[in-house]
Amino acid sequence: KITSIGSSVIPVVNRLQDIFAPFGGLSEIKLPQVAVVGSQSSGKSSVLEAIVGRDFLPRGSDICTRRPLVLQLENRSLKSENDDAREWGEFIHLPRKRFYDFAEIRREIQAETEREAGANRGVSDKQIRLKISSPNVLNITLVDLPGLTKVRVGDQPSDIEARIRTMIMSYIKHETCVILAVTPANADLANSDALQMARTADPAGLRTIGVMTKLDIMDRGTDACNFLLGKVIPLRLGYIGVINRSQQAINENRSVAEGLADEDEFFRSHPVYHSLSDSCGITQLAKKLNLILEQHIRKVLPGLKADLNSKMVAVVKELRSYGVVIESKDEQGALLLNILTRYCEAFCSLVDGKSQEMSTT
Ligand code: GDP
Ligand code: MG
Repeated sequence: KITSIGSSVIPVVNRLQDIFAPFGGLSEIKLPQVAVVGSQSSGKSSVLEAIVGRDFLPRGSDICTRRPLVLQLENRSLKSENDDAREWGEFIHLPRKRFYDFAEIRREIQAETEREAGANRGVSDKQIRLKISSPNVLNITLVDLPGLTKVRVGDQPSDIEARIRTMIMSYIKHETCVILAVTPANADLANSDALQMARTADPAGLRTIGVMTKLDIMDRGTDACNFLLGKVIPLRLGYIGVINRSQQAINENRSVAEGLADEDEFFRSHPVYHSLSDSCGITQLAKKLNLILEQHIRKVLPGLKADLNSKMVAVVKELRSYGVVIESKDEQGALLLNILTRYCEAFCSLVDGKSQEMSTT
């Protein structure tokens, strides 16, 4: 499990997100998210799982992620020993049902995917929203997206590539979206779909982190050293190389934790990568992410504050239009007396005025 390296600003924004969600006005308030982009089977879902530290996403060699999955990680700090230390997931489409079994979460994601996108590799841009509450996660929102494909299969329409591009772009175009551009190290690095799309959305590279997966299955005698150091395609925020569990490891039921231990061992004993420890491993990725997220939040915070302020002013104004609310009997009595007194005074002055008028005529 990844320990929370989060600072105090991150929970604040998560709470804001919850507050704004029911109002639907969220679209104007651009809260930071982290989205993964890359070609199909590059390891996007695996990277997200490793960041979360749990097995729960559909993964595999075929197209598995077929709807955007918006994953809100929520850190629940334990106040006493009696507090529930369990981790649970909750879907927006199944309110108040807590999933404690993460394999069941995966099955629900698959079932919900099929409800909207069919059983035959269809893709839909309708979100699945999942909240994971745990004492062991960073407070961030992650978005798992379908991968870029070139060839249509199954029930996919002929313009599948363009559709997926549009869907991905709708997430990563936002200034507040941090992009994890996932490129498998066993493919042609310079041709990375992920880096290409990230560059379109973020030309200056201010919010793109390069993630290289599958460092374990590169051709013998080659390594991703130059790439990780940014010598091939420079990226301002740099690259992190990771190793996720292979399909075989998944089939053999190796856990995420075991996968992380294997990764650690691989990098430490590797002749080239052991000297690049800042650029290697899921833990480094989580650290980098958190740092970037923090800077992001600090930048958007003044805007959020101004937005909240103007909403506040509007609400207070509306409240005033309802008049003063009085709770206690004493206060009600005093108020009534006050109103009566003023009424009497007004009445008397009116009558006096009238009688004066009469007396002068
Ligand atoms: P996605 O389509 O981009 O979400 O990719 P997935 O996370 O579903 O992974 C696709 C396949 O590649 C799965 O079978 C994974 O086990 C495998 N895989 C992902 N990352 C790595 C890695 O770093 N090394 C190895 N050997 N296999 C990986
Ligand atoms: Mg996936």
